[in-house]
Amino acid sequence: MAIFYQSTRDKSNQKTASQAILQGLAEDGGLFVPVDFPKLALDFEQLKNATYQEIAELVLQTFFDDFSKAEIHDMVKAAYGDNFDDPEIAPVKQVGQHYLLELFHGETIAFKDMALSILPYLMTQAAKKNGVTNEIVILTATSGDTGKAAMAGFADVEQTKIIVFYPKNGVSPIQERQMVTQQGDNVHVVAIDGNFDQAQTAVKAMFNEADLRDKMAKNGKQFSSANSMNIGRLIPQVAYYIYAYAQLVKKNQIENGESVNFSVPTGNFGNILAAYYAKKLGLPIRKLICASNKNNVLTDFFKTGRYDKNREFFVTSSPSMDILVSSNLERLIFELTDENDQTTGQLLTALSTEGQYQLTEKMLEKLTDFIADWADESEISKEIQETFSKNHYVLDPHTAVASSVYHKLAPEGKTVVVSTASPYKFPQVVLNALSSTAVASDDFAAVKALEELSETPLPRAVKSIEKAEVLHQTTVEVSQMQSEVERYLGLK
Ligand SMILES: *Cc1c(COP(=O)(O)O)cnc(C)c1O
Repeated sequence: MAIFYQSTRDKSNQKTASQAILQGLAEDGGLFVPVDFPKLALDFEQLKNATYQEIAELVLQTFFDDFSKAEIHDMVKAAYGDNFDDPEIAPVKQVGQHYLLELFHGETIAFKDMALSILPYLMTQAAKKNGVTNEIVILTATSGDTGKAAMAGFADVEQTKIIVFYPKNGVSPIQERQMVTQQGDNVHVVAIDGNFDQAQTAVKAMFNEADLRDKMAKNGKQFSSANSMNIGRLIPQVAYYIYAYAQLVKKNQIENGESVNFSVPTGNFGNILAAYYAKKLGLPIRKLICASNKNNVLTDFFKTGRYDKNREFFVTSSPSMDILVSSNLERLIFELTDENDQTTGQLLTALSTEGQYQLTEKMLEKLTDFIADWADESEISKEIQETFSKNHYVLDPHTAVASSVYHKLAPEGKTVVVSTASPYKFPQVVLNALSSTAVASDDFAAVKALEELSETPLPRAVKSIEKAEVLHQTTVEVSQMQSEVERYLGLK
């Protein structure tokens, strides 16, 4: 059975998987979701012995069935190989009474690698399949991790260009360094004087602007998105939830069929939505813990059904979660409205015009799969410190949010905390949490101090960037983003 994808804002707008991947966002501003959600009979007696790659193939075959098995096999093989520094790709570690699913073994030591290492293959294969000869321009706003992971994936991939915008003062020094040293002839990195939400809003506006689209088409180009709105980002993430569960069965940590919780450090709602999709597919999940930092718009949403972005924006120690508009939530809203594209469109329009919307009681009652809470800066620091002193395991600040919220909510059953970044990506914050006396002049000094203090091996990705040459130095105002895109692409 072929699976089609429909827009959350116009159900008659339907595409094949490869068309949806190519396009990213729907023309009507909606996000693509499966028309008929697939189900899988997950046999963990068999899956417990499967490799990460085998599980990824199973998931991709199920959702993206207009790609052949051989194509999927080749893409998975290319995406999840020795570009990861752990042969397990997404190992599960036991820490105290719970587990950590480590998603930071890829090239940029954060979880975005899990999807962005395969997206370029999905996209170029999708172009071939649909006879597209246009150059595909990836336009992305990043809160720090997506940008670098996308560039690493797309660098020098034929028939593509990638433009990344990041908030000048909203990413860590190591994150910025990773981005501005990115090599590749088709890569453009731009800092903006603004925050992530402003960058993301401007990027979305460019996707929706008909004039710009026409200009692109005349020049043999078309946009696509590597942001987590792209279904090609979301679906590969379903694999690691299934893999984690299979590993727990294999290690006799859970009974086959026992329900587990996942605590997910959440920003744009992509990672946790993939967990929800895994549950819909048939994975035994009890609760999904939506963990936020001080930008706790989602905590309020799950507790009250009211989404309200009209609030102060905080720059925190977990910058990849400093988000007030969680784009992927639209896919969940669509389900809560019983797949009503009109209502979904109205709610999301209210969000962009008034900055808020309210779910009905009936919709709110359907949110039983989720529980939510948040951690402030001191709780994050305390969580890093306690986890290290009790378990000799170093958490990054994002993972610490999920760990802290898990301890706070203490749900019934076994819990897997989703670990989204290596502590070496945010070394100063982690070092300060672990030691009240350590001082480090910059991120790189902090890396060394952290390595000595924690005896945690240094990932190869960190070793390589210290001496790398800075190749990108453009900064623009938010209002100049489109003109910068047109300039880089030679449209004016
Ligand atoms: C992107 C990111 C998150 C948030 O994930 P979403 O899918 O946007 O909710 C959490 N932690 C890290 C390290 C990230 O890079």
